Amino acid sequence: MPSSGDAAGRRPHVVLIPSAGMGHLVPFGRLAVARSSGHGCDVSLVTVLPTVSTAESKHLDALFDAFPAVRRLDFELAPFDASEFPSAAPFFLRFEAMRRSAPLLGPLLTGAGASALATDIALTSVVIPVAKEQGLPCHILFTASAAMLSLCAYFPTYLDANAGDGGGVGDVDIPGVYRIPKASIPQALHDPNHLFTRQFVANGRSLTSAAGILVNTFDALEPEAVAALQQGKVASGFPPVFAVGPLLPASNQAKDPQANYMEWLDAQPARSVVYVSFGSRKAISGEQLRELAAGLETSGHRFLWVVKSTVVDRDDAAELGELLGEGFLERVEKRGLVTKAWVDQEEVLKHESVALFVSHCGWNSVTEAAASGVPVLALPRFGDQRVNSGVVARAGLGVWADTWSWEGEAGVIGAEEISEKVKAAMADEAMRRKAASVAKAAATAVAGGGSSHRCLVEFARLCQGGTCRTN
Ligand code: UDP
Repeated sequence: MPSSGDAAGRRPHVVLIPSAGMGHLVPFGRLAVARSSGHGCDVSLVTVLPTVSTAESKHLDALFDAFPAVRRLDFELAPFDASEFPSAAPFFLRFEAMRRSAPLLGPLLTGAGASALATDIALTSVVIPVAKEQGLPCHILFTASAAMLSLCAYFPTYLDANAGDGGGVGDVDIPGVYRIPKASIPQALHDPNHLFTRQFVANGRSLTSAAGILVNTFDALEPEAVAALQQGKVASGFPPVFAVGPLLPASNQAKDPQANYMEWLDAQPARSVVYVSFGSRKAISGEQLRELAAGLETSGHRFLWVVKSTVVDRDDAAELGELLGEGFLERVEKRGLVTKAWVDQEEVLKHESVALFVSHCGWNSVTEAAASGVPVLALPRFGDQRVNSGVVARAGLGVWADTWSWEGEAGVIGAEEISEKVKAAMADEAMRRKAASVAKAAATAVAGGGSSHRCLVEFARLCQGGTCRTN
């Protein structure tokens, strides 16, 4: 596509500003790579320093090494006193620290010669004013599902309408989409004073001032939510929405030289392995972890289980034996591999021995399962994961037992129930076929002329001086 550039003939320069956590960073890296190849513009990825986790710094180093066309733009955060939020989780604190440092982005963007921005939902309400001051169009890359985007866009209206009734947050019926049941609303949003709720509402209110919103999903995976957002049914005056997913892997995963999981997978029969992972950080209580271990053991199936035992990987010193219960590792040695390593999840999901993904349904994991055609057994724990599990079930990509508890609710999911669900999912040929058809639809969406490809091209056109809202 020809580049229009500015009056001085400079190439357009899109600056991507992610927030923190692998779930946010991974799709930003993928967008940076997609935009830097063959779209006639320069792309910078803001690197916020210091990073929170080792996984983030390794991921960024590997990405800049493998894709020199993506420029690195370091951004040092201003000092931040976290004692104001004594019980907030590390990544919410990082969002807040970044939000407070946002005014410092102005000089960085001027120095870099930015001509358009794309930022994360967690930073939306603070980056849009900076963009406005600089006269730059500001897009959002929404790294979660379109269903979550519709909740984010509609939630302020919902709160305003229900402010007087004092009953707290109930089911949320999103216009044009569907009803999100109270039990699936992220736990934090039931507390109006929670740091996350304050950020979520402020960001939701500011979405209408964005130039455009990219979502890492595709039409066939979330037809209702994508259509409702694009048709302006969810919130009036909503900007253009581009479903650009699944954003493709950038093949730049930092490899852990100690990890032997690919050799282990190679040695397993085709479609025999249950892959178990709950994302980039601790998502599951100790008690639930042990029930899961017992459930996998009694299912009788082979499994590869990636365990993260802390929220921030730098703090991780626990031994697997202690975490999973005495004798577990020895008993399952012949048919299970348990690792605390960082695995290349894309590679694992594409491996022919993998038949089922027991997942917390972080959105990147869902999109990766969709792209690979691996059916999902949903085991959501917190945040947007029940909303995402609902998407998985609706699309036929997998199954979700919506009566299973998650963090903050009484009771754990018992080993026997988990074992039964694993056995049923492994035997479900119809689900396997449906997951394969989702993967086909994902491939069609991102191929030339597909819906996601067209959205990405349209976004590129906007960044290159086509019609851009600057609000
Ligand atoms: N991931 C990975 N290896 C690991 C753990 C996680 O490659 O050992 C990747 C995974 O493929 C996904 C991201 O990290 O791209 C995690 O994002 P997700 O939204 O699934 O979950 P979160 O960690 O944000 O809860």
